[in-house]
Amino acid sequence: MKDINFKNRKVLIRVDFNVPLDSKLKVSDDTRILASKPTIKKILDDGGSCILMSHLGRPKANEKEFSMFNILYKIEEIFERNVIFSNDCIGWRAKELSQGLKPGEILLLENLRYYQEEINGNYSFAKKLASLGDFYINDAFGTAHRAHASTSVIAQFFPKAKCFGYLLSKEIKAIGKIMESGEKPIVAILGGAKVSSKIKVILNIIDKVDHVIIGGGMAYTFIKALGGDIGDSIFEPDKEDMALSIIDLAKEKKVKIHLPKDVIIADRFDNSANIKASDSFSIPKNWQGLDCGPKSSIVFNDIIQDCKTILWNGPLGVFELSRFSEGTKALGRSVVNATSNGAFSLVGGGDSVAAVKMFNFESGVSYVSTGGGAMLESLEGKSLPGIRAINMR
Ligand code: AMP
Repeated sequence: MKDINFKNRKVLIRVDFNVPLDSKLKVSDDTRILASKPTIKKILDDGGSCILMSHLGRPKANEKEFSMFNILYKIEEIFERNVIFSNDCIGWRAKELSQGLKPGEILLLENLRYYQEEINGNYSFAKKLASLGDFYINDAFGTAHRAHASTSVIAQFFPKAKCFGYLLSKEIKAIGKIMESGEKPIVAILGGAKVSSKIKVILNIIDKVDHVIIGGGMAYTFIKALGGDIGDSIFEPDKEDMALSIIDLAKEKKVKIHLPKDVIIADRFDNSANIKASDSFSIPKNWQGLDCGPKSSIVFNDIIQDCKTILWNGPLGVFELSRFSEGTKALGRSVVNATSNGAFSLVGGGDSVAAVKMFNFESGVSYVSTGGGAMLESLEGKSLPGIRAINMR
């Protein structure tokens, strides 16, 4: 988009302003709005106008708490100007307001998901939205994996007047730096509760990486499959065979899989439980592994410091509970340190992003993705409808 001049253009931008609201319906985290600021600013600075469209939450009917009106004040604050609001995203009102829009002005449309047609990818709904602007930009990575009217179907009405916004471009580039042009050695760190949600990712990245660190709850399915005693730790019995196949595949591809050597075990899933360190392959009965242990952190750190490219998806323990957060914190420190020594690090996936924010590692890593599901699907090797639609001529 940097080579396009948007002077006098009415640019319809699909943003992801699905921000969290507190009990008073005030924005509690404006990261997603700020993330699209460069895109919006470029258009305004060029002398164009912006028509912003987004969803907010998952409304069933037209509930007030999901109205985009709730976040209007925040957009006005961030862009230091009045923002016009249309209480419908299509129809005569939206049409009239978009027609009257002048250069430098912003129009915010009401929640797209007040219409079921948005989610269904309805053609005529997309056409109505398209009629509001003369250029289309997709800057919503968080919904790029959805074939919705505003993220994908709409693009066909702008065959020669569409592009990615800066945010979406940055996301695509960051993933490309791992999947296509990552400098070796590359390490993928996968954590989180379940192996089942990450199997496709592992199978897709195994050709591209040198090391896979497996932590969090998903490690226990591997440890059990390898004959370890895991006590009451979380595991997925129907995925044991898959875990063994992944280990075999990794051997064949000469990719090293690293499981935690030691873990912090607890006699209850509770922050006030009795806890101790244990060998990860001999967890006693009635105890469960809830975090990586200190020896594992040292081994993982050595690997990470040797790597030039780092992908981190999923926490290494139950980081939400302070006594089981040390493994995830140690990992964060390792990633930050490697990044400061020149490695490229990408953090993505809802819970690892939450952990990175919670422990203030955000500014120390190269890139934090804004899209959980979209990021996972990209890592699984899927082509995302929102990206395909822009690339299609
Ligand atoms: P996911 O959404 O699959 O990335 O999983 C994230 C969740 O996994 C977080 O809420 C963690 O608390 C949880 N988690 C991480 N390690 C464990 C573990 N050892 N046992 C149970 N849950 C875990």
